[in-house]
Amino acid sequence: MTQTSPDILFDLDADALTALRRARLEQTLDRVFAAHPHYRRKFAELRMARADLQSLGDLRRLPVTTKADFMGDPASFQLRPEGAADDEETVVWDVMYTTGSSGAPAPFVSTAYDFVNILALNRNMLRLRGVTAGDSILNLFPLTKYPHGAFIRVLHAASSMNIPVVSAMPGRANPRRPELNNGLDEVVALAERTRPTILWGVPSYIRRLIGRAEEMGIALPSVRLVFVTGEGFGEEARADLVARLERLGAASPWISVSYGATEMQGGLVECAHGSGYHNPAPDQFLFEAVDPETHEPVADGEEGLILLTHLDRRGTVMLRYALGDVARLARGTCPHCGARTERIVSMPRRVDGLVKIKGMLVNPQALVDAVQGEPALLDFLAVVEKENPAEPLSMDRLRLRIVAAAGADAALEQSLAARVQRAIGVTPHVERTTADDPLLAGRGWKVQPLIDLRKAKA
Ligand SMILES: [Zn+2]
Repeated sequence: MTQTSPDILFDLDADALTALRRARLEQTLDRVFAAHPHYRRKFAELRMARADLQSLGDLRRLPVTTKADFMGDPASFQLRPEGAADDEETVVWDVMYTTGSSGAPAPFVSTAYDFVNILALNRNMLRLRGVTAGDSILNLFPLTKYPHGAFIRVLHAASSMNIPVVSAMPGRANPRRPELNNGLDEVVALAERTRPTILWGVPSYIRRLIGRAEEMGIALPSVRLVFVTGEGFGEEARADLVARLERLGAASPWISVSYGATEMQGGLVECAHGSGYHNPAPDQFLFEAVDPETHEPVADGEEGLILLTHLDRRGTVMLRYALGDVARLARGTCPHCGARTERIVSMPRRVDGLVKIKGMLVNPQALVDAVQGEPALLDFLAVVEKENPAEPLSMDRLRLRIVAAAGADAALEQSLAARVQRAIGVTPHVERTTADDPLLAGRGWKVQPLIDLRKAKA
């Protein structure tokens, strides 16, 4: 593997890194001012010229871009250079979708230029997580209807470091091609046969896989790394997973948690337990933390709304984009691995009102809108909880507790389940209750249509 330029994570001093990031931003801004429909409108409203944005700090003159801005008109976030040559900056390589719930999933477009950057950032994610040439991956993400970074980028990450990957293809079978999907027992058998060193997937699924392997008496001694995303994954869950893996023969497994986003096509990752989540590509992404109300910068280490700026993209481009979470941001060199890049040093928490259920970002209002049109429904409450509250990594379950009008027939449950599924992509268990249900009593219909019981157990 040739490494001709300096290593972006470890070789550059602070000044050289700042100069490089600024140069990347300059090139991106030139294109944004020329051909980005959304920001061209914004710049015109703000009477802002290209010359007003010279340094990384000048970005603060721009207002925060929200998820609603993007979801409302995702096509306007794609660079549209007129009469541009058909080169790597403009050729559309792939399109991934945000798994949002309000309206259609929003496409996030990567050009051939961006895809090379994605490979580079995936490679850095693996390096930060301690992956070596001897490792091999078991990809445990399911296929999804909309192309999504989780399943696909694992394959690209393996490419970026020339290591083997086996995709286990778990999840619900496609009725057209049922032979493509594997049940849990088949996935356990695959794990035994292929001897991966890395399990990469959704925490609740990995937990089920390991539990089933234990039941079946199958050892997984080759596993040394587990890659999961951070949603609801606390210390207890981490310790539990390590203990279970050790019972399956793994010598000293460690769990590397990431904070991923469609808008990165990757994630910020831990290099060690408690190290914080590293920006894997400081030449591609700039992070800021600002006050959630005033949008003024907060001091390093203070909790703030996390903003992402694309320094080096050519397809979908975002500047000061609020990922929807607040967290604490640290700059400078990581004391564990020596990487010089930003780290998110607290577990991010959502502030945009969206709730994550089974990995889907759900807007509670979309659920309310979907069921309110049902005349036989008198009252309802949506409850999201763990299928097994005692298990930290248990799957999420959405229950819709309903009070039905007298004489409402049994088709009501089915009709409501289908309405909710269409609106937010998650099928609820619909159960009838009465108006004196303690969960329904003493809560406002509009104020809190969805109760999240998972947090109380975390
Ligand atoms: Zn580190």
